[in-house]
Amino acid sequence: MDVGKNIREFQQKLPKNVKLVAVSKTKPNEVVMEAYHAGQKIFGENKVQDLREKYEALPKDIEWHFIGHLQTNKVKYIAPFASLIHAVDSLKLLKVIDKEAAKNSRKIDCLLQFHIAQEETKFGMSLEEAKSLLGSDEFSGLKNVAVCGVMGMATYTNDENQVRKEFTMLHNIFQVLKSDYFSSCNSFTEISMGMSHDYPLAIEAGSTMIRVGSSIFGERVY
Ligand SMILES: *Cc1c(COP(=O)(O)O)cnc(C)c1O
Repeated sequence: MDVGKNIREFQQKLPKNVKLVAVSKTKPNEVVMEAYHAGQKIFGENKVQDLREKYEALPKDIEWHFIGHLQTNKVKYIAPFASLIHAVDSLKLLKVIDKEAAKNSRKIDCLLQFHIAQEETKFGMSLEEAKSLLGSDEFSGLKNVAVCGVMGMATYTNDENQVRKEFTMLHNIFQVLKSDYFSSCNSFTEISMGMSHDYPLAIEAGSTMIRVGSSIFGERVY
């Protein structure tokens, strides 16, 4: 894998309004640095400890995104530096992020995760759950988190129509929330959707942020 070349190809082909999160999970620091030297500054990890270790070892101008399921008891380890938390799916988690952000005198950007795939998973909210979260007094009281958009994962399938339908659903959710809860908020802008195998469809459906691992770094070996 020529990681630098892959990054440069993405830089050339992505529309200007779509950000690339390079998903470096399981990849060693030297490989992350190949992407960094090609100009990549946004990286994503899905394990708290790996994120923390990479943050400590690597250049400080990297923006670290947490893209996995975050347990409330681990928020404190990433609160000092995480620049975006992609997969927030409960008020409980949002409240802990708010508290830990306050301890660090920060405001942390978050995305709400939605369950758009057919696959059974415990992660991700429905539109109704998000509405009840966003409409609650508890949510209005949170001063150290900024909800900046939505995130989701499509079904892992070759059926392009299905994937397109799910990404379109997430785009619609974004628009409903934007008009009902964030119409006067300039920072509610992000739709994080699309991975190595489906990012072209995600971009067609309005993605502003794709999360790409194996197409940049090669297959992961666990
Ligand atoms: C691993 C992962 C990705 C990247 O997956 P690839 O198929 O390697 O591009 C994107 N999003 C999330 C949430 C992930 O866990």
